[in-house]
Amino acid sequence: MSDHERLSLSEDAAFLAAADRLYSVAPFGYVTTAPGGRILLVNDALLVWLNYTREELQAGLRWADLLTPGGRLFYETHLAPILLADGSADEVALDLVGKQGSIVPTLVNARQARDVPTELALTRWTIVKATERRLYERELVSARNLFETTLSSIGDGVITTDADGAVAFMNGVAADLTGWDPDLAVERPVEDVLPLTREDTKEPIVNPIREALRTKTRVGLTNHTILTSRDGRRLVIDDSAAPILNDDGTVSGAVMVFRDVTERRQAARALEDAYARLDAKAAELRRSNEDLSQFAYVASHDLRSPLRTVTLYSQILQRRYGDRLDDDGKAFLSEIEAATKRLDTLIRDLLEFSALSSKAEFSVESTDAEAALQAVLKSLQGVIVEANAIVQSEPLPSLNIDRTSLVQLLQNLIANAIRYRSSADPCIRISATQEGMFCHLCCRDNGIGIPAEHYRRIFEPFKRLHGQEIPGSGIGLALCRKIVERHGGRIWVESIVGEGSTFHFTVPIVHDPIDDEKD
Ligand code: ADP
Repeated sequence: MSDHERLSLSEDAAFLAAADRLYSVAPFGYVTTAPGGRILLVNDALLVWLNYTREELQAGLRWADLLTPGGRLFYETHLAPILLADGSADEVALDLVGKQGSIVPTLVNARQARDVPTELALTRWTIVKATERRLYERELVSARNLFETTLSSIGDGVITTDADGAVAFMNGVAADLTGWDPDLAVERPVEDVLPLTREDTKEPIVNPIREALRTKTRVGLTNHTILTSRDGRRLVIDDSAAPILNDDGTVSGAVMVFRDVTERRQAARALEDAYARLDAKAAELRRSNEDLSQFAYVASHDLRSPLRTVTLYSQILQRRYGDRLDDDGKAFLSEIEAATKRLDTLIRDLLEFSALSSKAEFSVESTDAEAALQAVLKSLQGVIVEANAIVQSEPLPSLNIDRTSLVQLLQNLIANAIRYRSSADPCIRISATQEGMFCHLCCRDNGIGIPAEHYRRIFEPFKRLHGQEIPGSGIGLALCRKIVERHGGRIWVESIVGEGSTFHFTVPIVHDPIDDEKD
């Protein structure tokens, strides 16, 4: 062997050794597989990635054994036939599975070639670890999926544009509202797809997308904006637009979110109309109530004078001709007297009631309820004695109510308690407790009682339960209710038939400034 031949042999050996080292330590995985897929050769890099020993991989494992089930399917149905047909495949994304099941995302190139000595069609796989890039892509895909799902399922219309205001994307709701097919809308100026006008003047308005692109800020839509859809519908919409900014602050596009508020607007209008009608009705009712009170007042006032005449002449008749009348005549005359008395009471109560109804405001004055009660008891003295009634009471506070009203209230309730008595002697108890800003007063009796179904009715004018046996006008409790309600309170009754009734009412209490300070 010549020196020259020796030198070239050692150069070849050095070259092969270097190639071998490169094969082993390169930042790529290398695998050579036999026609059935059995692994023949593998480099160190891939062994490290997958945590196998060379012996384990070369002991009969096949390329497909390194793939996920999905990857295996793809290999068998797509990749292997391509390799067979073309002899190569590039940049195929495949997940390899390590010994402990760890997944290594990779990009794979494959080349098929006949091995010179064996004549076998071997496949050489070059594998690039693609972890970061693949993960980034995956994140991007899932973010895009999430974005698209969100925009598609959102209840509002969404349109995005590029920096020139040309439509880039629109969701299904936007397509419905604008009447545009998204495929046709894409790349058109936003004004074509979303023509907006002012509801009042019908003039076109600058699309908020343009404003957002120009000002680089969020833009709300002026109220009462009309969107005319492609099919001619006019919708009242409510929306806002915002620019999409790059990291460096430049605008890459804009997004607009909008919704149809036509129905909401119609409902709001209907509500406003209903309120206006209600106000008008209330005013009308107030007017007719006032007219009615006025009429009742005038009528009852005018009735008094002919009634006085009837009373006067029946008294003269009695005085001058009483002894000349037979028994029937006397009975008729006493009927006339009783009827005129009843009519007089009725007219007096009616006058009181209508006077109260037409009185616009009550003067809010502090009234000593204890003194008012004593005055009532004094004026009812005769009735109380005659009925053998007992009236007990707790000390009452000062109340924010005018004196006349409080006297009317107590007088009506106590007189009723005596008039609607049972066979037992009347026993009446007046009590008071403070409840916040109000005083809760009770007038309890042991009278005939009131059936529950009449609890509300008896507070209406002219509603009477015991009209036949006990005379009355049916105005007293209506008057009480009016007084209490005018002072911001409530009145109600609780009763057990045969055992008695308790009338409750609330009246604003006078606060002692010293007590208030203590609070
Ligand atoms: P009037 O007493 O003139 O009939 P009110 O308005 O004062 O009119 O009373 C309405 C009705 O309520 C009375 O007719 C009576 O049937 C019933 N009522 C009122 N107070 C009592 C009471 N303390 N006990 C039983 N029934 C009562």
